[in-house]
Amino acid sequence: MAFEHYKTSRILVTGGAGFIGSHLCERLLAEGAEVVSVDNYFTGSRRNIAHLLQNPLFEAIRHDVTFPLYVEVDAIFNMACPASPIHYQRDPVQTTKTSVHGAINMLGLAKRLRARIFQASTSEVYGDPLIHPQTEDYWGNVNSIGIRSCYDEGKRCAETLFFDYWRQHGLPIKVARIFNTYGPRMQPDDGRVVSSFIVQALRGDPITVFGDGGQTRSFCYIDDLVEAITRLMLTDDSCTGPVNLGNSSEFTILELAEKVIKFTNSRSKLIFRPLPQDDPRQRQPDLSKAKAVLDWQPKVALDDGLKETITYFKRMLEVA
Ligand code: NAD
Ligand code: UDP
Ligand code: UDP
Repeated sequence: MAFEHYKTSRILVTGGAGFIGSHLCERLLAEGAEVVSVDNYFTGSRRNIAHLLQNPLFEAIRHDVTFPLYVEVDAIFNMACPASPIHYQRDPVQTTKTSVHGAINMLGLAKRLRARIFQASTSEVYGDPLIHPQTEDYWGNVNSIGIRSCYDEGKRCAETLFFDYWRQHGLPIKVARIFNTYGPRMQPDDGRVVSSFIVQALRGDPITVFGDGGQTRSFCYIDDLVEAITRLMLTDDSCTGPVNLGNSSEFTILELAEKVIKFTNSRSKLIFRPLPQDDPRQRQPDLSKAKAVLDWQPKVALDDGLKETITYFKRMLEVA
């Protein structure tokens, strides 16, 4: 089925009240789509979508994707899944169920509707990678029985399901492997490094660096990610992915801490904590495929994105 623009289309966003999902809902509404958000508010928040509720083209449904869902839509963005390590490790069985049962239900829904479906996969499918930067043809180095496995293996199985529905049922699929993304509407207490460091710096609390801080991540600002996701959904049916999405500028965690302290004018000091089990040592996306397929590349530098995010958290902490 041709799907060339969002205007007048009805789009389902699972995890629509989450960090990425809420920005995506906002963007799709701006494109003229009708948007249905489905979320069980496990890690998302109604506050993230409160400003959209007055829009007659927006609808929010409380629902857990591990249960079947019957709605009528033209396309599905499957974003539902806790994404921060402390959240996805809180109830690891539910995390795997969300990825696997959630994917089966959303793929079943897409199959009945002949709708195209996007999967928010992750750089975690590469595990603690042995090649650097990571290209999409790398199969990964993942522990199947560790504390991160509920997330990593759940997402890997979801990718398998997407590609089997594509092969077996001819379903149009779009799989993106998203690398560390940050920005406004992250939860202040979700334990992810950007939100944690900013909140600690603004409160004058110690900045908790895990390990020696020499491990690396490559941070993508939310607006760049949403642009890439919305472009990927509009590519023709032959473009299934997986496609890496993120920003290839790589920083050590210590460098990130120094930037956050500088931009917040904080007097916080660093404290070093043990490195969590299976914490990847380095991570950087190879974005060649995304650039070729989407004619896209990230535009927001870490310094600029951090300043926007700091402004958001400052306002949030003043109100709280
Ligand atoms: P988030 O926790 O803010 O959003 C996830 C949303 O899914 C939340 O609103 C949560 O309540 C909802 N949810 C969780 N389980 C659900 C269930 N069973 N049924 C219905 N809703 C459920 O996280 P995020 O950063 O916005 O991540 C969104 C998606 O992108 C996730 O699938 C995540 O794995 C993926 N991703 C994010 C990043 C990142 O850096 N932010 C990186 C890679 C992949
Ligand atoms: N499903 C759903 N909504 C639909 C259609 C299907 O939630 O509109 C669920 C359904 O509960 C099923 C899953 O999707 O468990 C997979 O559906 P599929 O048709 O692929 O498999 P089957 O129903 O044959 O097991
Ligand atoms: N990290 C840290 N201090 C924190 C939170 C995270 O040093 O308070 C480190 C963590 O060990 C990891 C990196 O920052 O090496 C990114 O962690 P995050 O949880 O944001 O994402 P992920 O590990 O899933 O990439």
